[in-house]
Amino acid sequence: MNQEINLTDANIEFEEKVYVMADEVLSILKELSLENKKQISGKAIAEKMIWRDSVKNLLFVNRGTASKEEIEPDCLKELSNTLLGRLTDLMPSSITEKLSDLKEKLHNKEIAGGSREWLDSPIKIVRKYIDSLVLRNSDLENFIQQTMNYLAETEGNIISESTSQHQRLKDDRIFEDNISENMGYIKNNINNSNDFNSVKMALMSKIENINRGIEIKRDRDMQRLKETENTLEKMSKRMLEIKREADDIRKRSQELEVETFQDNLTGIYNRRAYDQRMIETLANFERYNVPASLMICDIDFFKKINDTYGHNVGDLALKKLASLLKERLRINDFVSRYGGEEFAVILPHTDLNGATLAGEGIRSYIDKSVFSYKNQKISLTISVGVSAFRKGDNGNTVFERADSALYLAKRSGRNQVKSENDTLNECANIECA
Ligand code: GH3
Ligand code: MG
Ligand code: MG
Repeated sequence: MNQEINLTDANIEFEEKVYVMADEVLSILKELSLENKKQISGKAIAEKMIWRDSVKNLLFVNRGTASKEEIEPDCLKELSNTLLGRLTDLMPSSITEKLSDLKEKLHNKEIAGGSREWLDSPIKIVRKYIDSLVLRNSDLENFIQQTMNYLAETEGNIISESTSQHQRLKDDRIFEDNISENMGYIKNNINNSNDFNSVKMALMSKIENINRGIEIKRDRDMQRLKETENTLEKMSKRMLEIKREADDIRKRSQELEVETFQDNLTGIYNRRAYDQRMIETLANFERYNVPASLMICDIDFFKKINDTYGHNVGDLALKKLASLLKERLRINDFVSRYGGEEFAVILPHTDLNGATLAGEGIRSYIDKSVFSYKNQKISLTISVGVSAFRKGDNGNTVFERADSALYLAKRSGRNQVKSENDTLNECANIECA
């Protein structure tokens, strides 16, 4: 039946929507900040988004089409759960609570109606995400504004400082002229007069003049020194403020990076981080030709764990598995939650054989471990599919080979590891038969 295909299509389609939306918003923010930072506001972003074809398509095309209306309620619930799971991977934790609420509602079927309502709700959440980006941007904008003010202030201080420097030079020149004028007068008087008393009188009065001039100059210099000290103190205070602000911004952007690349439930890398690391590993592989492999681990009959013990226990199992993968694999192995109960591990410097052995190690460790919740034993096993990077691979091709191996492991009875070579052998056997 093609119902299952419909579900997969809708799933991928929505996931793409979220990525496109996030990318569009980021590029609009970039554009706006290049054009004129004052224009960055929710309204400006919304206006720009309306004109983007891709966003138009996302928001208005395919909504409430007949085919989605036809999906059975159970499938719909399943699909919306998966979509929300993916959204949780992508969204910052600030809105995760809203997502959990929505998950809960969808789970309890509180949201009535057809596909339109449940498609609208995630879109609303994406809008919240956009709002949170705008908010962060206004933080940054404030900081830039403050820095600009500080620079303007500093510039003002430098200008007034150089003006007063100029004035000081002028004053010093007047002072020197005054002294040499007085000295000239004294010299003339001594040369031209024989009267000791009148020379003495003139000398005294001129010395007094000079003393007064020195005092005035000293007062003025003291006053200037005080002013300069005040200005310096003010500038260094402002400098400290700016430094503190810059530290805050750096901390906030580090937090944002964690939010962007961390899976909220398990704390390990999320799908977005995986996609990025895959691009980097492929580029490294093409350039240096060192082996690299991909491992996909999927919990067997996970739905049954949810159904039997509840969603919370399912969540605990996911957390535990994530920490076991991190513990048991190498420090250089990149462990991520690809989505739902599926984990993707990129193993650098590891060939197919090595990756298969690593997969077997983790599979058998989990098989031998006893999982329990409130004294109830929970059976938990994983199936693993492994592929090795090849020349000319892209993220999809290397993933598809590991995924086919995973499905071979599932078909072969689960709780086992299969590599891409096993899928080739299986094809050959089918041809022989
Ligand atoms: P198989 O052995 O073939 O993999 O069977 P399965 O039941 O593990 O696989 P299936 O794809 O049928 O079900 C996966 C389930 O995982 C269904 C979905 O509700 C559940 N799931 C996805 N994300 C989460 C999550 O974040 N928490 C919990 N508790 N369950 C989740
Ligand atoms: Mg599974
Ligand atoms: Mg699965």
